Amino acid sequence: MPVSFRFDPVQLPPEAVALREEVRAFLREEIAQGSFSPLGTGRESSWSPEFSRKVAARGWIGMTFPKEYGGHGRTHLERYVMIEEMLAHRAPISFHWVADRQSGPVILKYGHEEVRRDIIPRIMRGEASFAIGLSEPNSGSDVFAASVKATPAPRGNRDGWLLNGTKIWTSNAHRATHMIGLFRTSPPTKENRRFGLTQFVVDMTTPGISTRPIINLAGRHEFNEVLFQDAFIPAVNMIGERDMSYATATAELAYERAGPDRFLETISVLNELVRSAGPEPGERLAEGIGREIAHLKTLRRMSLSVAAMLQAGKTPAVEAAVVKDLGTNWEQALPGRARGLLPPAEGDESYAAVMRFNTLIAPKLTIQGGTREVLRGIIARGLGLR
Ligand SMILES: Cc1cc2nc3c(=O)[nH]c(=O)nc-3n(C[C@H](O)[C@H](O)[C@H](O)COP(=O)(O)OP(=O)(O)OC[C@H]3O[C@@H](n4cnc5c(N)ncnc54)[C@H](O)[C@@H]3O)c2cc1C
Repeated sequence: MPVSFRFDPVQLPPEAVALREEVRAFLREEIAQGSFSPLGTGRESSWSPEFSRKVAARGWIGMTFPKEYGGHGRTHLERYVMIEEMLAHRAPISFHWVADRQSGPVILKYGHEEVRRDIIPRIMRGEASFAIGLSEPNSGSDVFAASVKATPAPRGNRDGWLLNGTKIWTSNAHRATHMIGLFRTSPPTKENRRFGLTQFVVDMTTPGISTRPIINLAGRHEFNEVLFQDAFIPAVNMIGERDMSYATATAELAYERAGPDRFLETISVLNELVRSAGPEPGERLAEGIGREIAHLKTLRRMSLSVAAMLQAGKTPAVEAAVVKDLGTNWEQALPGRARGLLPPAEGDESYAAVMRFNTLIAPKLTIQGGTREVLRGIIARGLGLR
């Protein structure tokens, strides 16, 4: 039966509006002190444990985590506003980003109590950072074909598992303190090819884990191969039930897909275009800029609507896929469209540098977190078309 999706309009509550001003004031102060540059030329590093600890001190990591675990118990809409400001200013939030967005929520929902009590406070203090261990050399889009093995292996009086195999494209694995990885604990069954996979929280300092850098198109070391050779993981680090991770991993992807990060990654191009166009841009340029702003506002409205659904306890997987598909296609095309409207003028080095870097990173935007084709498959299934 065909199923539709919907994006209800959302009014930000007064506490979220007030929070925006607080976050802006903090970011202005940090920029003035030189702790980061909002430009986005590729020279800046977005990985900064120091900055993450300052954000933590403001109570802006784990904002939605329950008070019972030391969380702030605030709403997804407040978190949305905070994240939107951080991204729009290009604040260096990579250290805590994955933990705050998806690993923390997944551990809170499916993790062992002992691990929750240990890790959640560390995430909230800006001390624990997470990598995502899904992709392997022979399983990318088809996450559920993962083959890196976890084998039961008690050690002394501790139950545990030995990990063996290779993950690939693992962003920040060389500097994250932890990973949530997906491992093969049983063969798939005839009835369910998704059966047999289990997620674990992995401490990246565990003996038997090493990383090999992969340098990306922009010349940066962000992702890696991760090699597991008899790495021992305590049994309590299992997330959810053994062999049943297709449910928890899908929930994790819903957290990953619909935030403002899915359309704000190349936003500095638009900022520089507007600056470079000046106060009297002329009719053609004003119309072109207006069109981009209209797209941006629509994407933002849809993404906010997903945040409100998360707040209501729903799992808006199809809506999240729609936002990611539309958002990443828009941000990917932005450098080319901006160049068509107004190429960097001779000597305008900041616009030129922003343009160079964002053109280089554009291809990855529709691959990371699920490719365009895979997302469209999810949307089609959600609409009952396949
Ligand atoms: C910048 C960046 C950061 C990343 N970080 C991480 C990370 O931290 N952790 C992690 O686990 N992974 C990470 N990835 C990997 C990413 O998730 C995979 O690259 C992605 O899922 C695609 O897998 P693949 O590269 O193996 O391509 P494949 O799955 O081999 O796909 C190749 C092509 O075939 C198409 N295709 C595949 N299946 C279908 C289908 N069923 N229907 C239609 N078309 C299909 C795809 O759309 C694509 O165009 C990252 C990738 C990038 C670019």
